[in-house]
Amino acid sequence: MHTDAALDAIHDLVDANHVLVRREILDAFGHVSVRHPESPETFLISRNLAPGLVTDHDIQVTALDGTTTDMRPSYLERFLHAEIYRARPDVHAVVHSHSASMVPFSISRTPLRAVWHMAGFLGDAVPVFEIRDTVGAGSDLLIRDAALGARLADVLGDTAVALMRGHGFVAVGGSVPQAVARAVYADLNARAQATAIQLLGDYTALTIEEGEAAAEANDGQLGRAWETWRAEAGRSRTRRACE
Ligand SMILES: [Zn+2]
Repeated sequence: MHTDAALDAIHDLVDANHVLVRREILDAFGHVSVRHPESPETFLISRNLAPGLVTDHDIQVTALDGTTTDMRPSYLERFLHAEIYRARPDVHAVVHSHSASMVPFSISRTPLRAVWHMAGFLGDAVPVFEIRDTVGAGSDLLIRDAALGARLADVLGDTAVALMRGHGFVAVGGSVPQAVARAVYADLNARAQATAIQLLGDYTALTIEEGEAAAEANDGQLGRAWETWRAEAGRSRTRRACE
């Protein structure tokens, strides 16, 4: 049986799946996870299922080597979550998305940068994971094993977001609402930056100081975004209503 803390984490995770679908960060693919609140060497993530279909009963407890005792199929790319949790004790939630708005910045020489105060956490240049550096030019681009997950975690370093060339991105946070907000606002920042480039061919980015100050201010308001998005996705509910 799950404890109250684990049930809260499961509920946040299920809500995050639906919020991220509603916000068009996830579609049939992509996934979100949360570190287990009482067993930090494990994390919670849906079984292999489209995010919009995820319920409390679909959540698997997965170890940092990618294994689970749940016999149902798991996401192929669960290793990217596992290796980020292994490398980053400060990370408690991970979003992996294939958003088409972010991909242009993974395949061009134009860096994704914080150009909008809601995405100050992006900093000066979002790192790009190039899978060819690890497995050559013949892969399917998926993070299929722990070695690839570890390499992605290396590229992410201590940042909030990493692009994956020709694939998508990961966004991490100290909580589910923070990781979700970073995924949502990174994607909107990418759209704004791309639009500015189309309009002008050039743009003004935030300074590092502006980005850090804006990120701190917005983190203080995370609850407002999270509750709005949960309601919008039809996920407002009494805590632990499924017990
Ligand atoms: Zn993927």
